[in-house]
Amino acid sequence: MADVLPIRNITPNMKNWCCLVTIQEKQQVTDSMGTPTKKQKMIFYDSEGSRVEGIIFNADIPKMSPILQVYKKYRISNADVRNIPEKFQTSGLTMQWVITARTVIEEVSREEDIMPVKFSFTEFADLAQYMDDKSKSVDVLGVVISSLDKKTISKSTKQSCVQKFVLLNEESQTVMLSLWDNFLNNEGQILLNNIQTYPVVIGRRLKVNNYNGVSLSTWFDSAVLVDPPIQEARELKNWTMRNTKLIAQLIETKAYIKYNPELFLKADQKTTLICNVSLSQKTALVKANISFEDIFQKYWYMSCGKCNRATAADYGIEFTCNSCKEKSPAVPRCRFDIDLSDGSGVIPASIFGDLAEKLLTFTALEAMDHFNQNRELPLEFVHSSLKTKTFLLHIKPVQAQLADARQRYTVLHYSELGQEIDSAQLIGQPDALPISAEHRVQTAQLLTPGESSSGSKTRLRLADKFDEAETTAIDDFATATDNCSKRTKLG
Ligand SMILES: [Zn+2]
Repeated sequence: MADVLPIRNITPNMKNWCCLVTIQEKQQVTDSMGTPTKKQKMIFYDSEGSRVEGIIFNADIPKMSPILQVYKKYRISNADVRNIPEKFQTSGLTMQWVITARTVIEEVSREEDIMPVKFSFTEFADLAQYMDDKSKSVDVLGVVISSLDKKTISKSTKQSCVQKFVLLNEESQTVMLSLWDNFLNNEGQILLNNIQTYPVVIGRRLKVNNYNGVSLSTWFDSAVLVDPPIQEARELKNWTMRNTKLIAQLIETKAYIKYNPELFLKADQKTTLICNVSLSQKTALVKANISFEDIFQKYWYMSCGKCNRATAADYGIEFTCNSCKEKSPAVPRCRFDIDLSDGSGVIPASIFGDLAEKLLTFTALEAMDHFNQNRELPLEFVHSSLKTKTFLLHIKPVQAQLADARQRYTVLHYSELGQEIDSAQLIGQPDALPISAEHRVQTAQLLTPGESSSGSKTRLRLADKFDEAETTAIDDFATATDNCSKRTKLG
């Protein structure tokens, strides 16, 4: 009979040993760069809390992987023990047990113990500092309260599946976690099957992305632990059960689909000087003044109330949208151009919807009424008050170039500096609907360059690609012709 040893006493080339271990986590099966080798890594721990990496290769994966289930306890003997070269070490593990079809593994039937493992979780509020940094990943703890629709995305040669899950923490903050491909087939399926019971997850080695503020995504070496037997997870589960009302409300209002400024737009965030904002950045954060005094424009367009795309339908007329195929009445939507400036430069940007109304201090309906009556919006107060304010803006480049060749941007969110960031947008807005990715309104015909010469400062911004903080990754364009009959009134 082999000796039962703790993990720390098991060394390379040792014979005749056995060890009682529990599976802490399993990664997905991955390919090794540039080789046909497939491997699957896992982490084992023992009753002392020592940990070791388990690894299975190639043809042994389908045989051995199903035998080793997360959180279960096994007696493993005589696996091949190796040191992990330093550059391949992850999670501080230096030793590796190679599990093959010859390895002796017995399940030890026992109650699920609380894992004697300590994770260092990143708070949701601290995620922004890891954003889009390829060298960094985070561990987070959260409860899954809902999921969005699964999407298939074609990336050059292969198709990928992704689904977003809504993670909630005890501070009632939400963040989206995207599970890709194998994560979706494995842990994602478990989450979907149990979503009514609000599974608690620990996401390990997740990437922090810049999407609707801050979001999380699985990466090749991530691990997703569903309802792990860990003290903090149990506590969160308990909190969840005491707060089902709040959760039901969050799910009802879908507030999590909206931008999460409280996680992202913080006064101490690193910002980019306007002169340094470049197209290579997917998004940028700038500290700038806003002005639109010199821009002659319309402030609204007629839109589909469901997907926000432009339509030629008249106000209140029910129509079937060519983009989202839904039938709903046409509604005016606020949208206008602004200049963003700091000491280093000026760039043009467009702002849409609620954000635009808030900045304009008029609703789209009011803007439309003024336009229809050929009256100017009384904006003197707005213009003068903007002169005294500075804003933190999250902007994103618009892909399509326009005739004037100036790169344009869309405002994803903004907050006034020197004020608390407005989180009212986060809660209690029942109208949060998925917003279409791109909009285009051909208002170019509204004004010809000749007409603009009446005011030397006047610049034309009406021809523009309407862009939005999207909740889909689909880059299709909606083209609609706006009603041009009002152009003489504006001129
Ligand atoms: Zn629509």
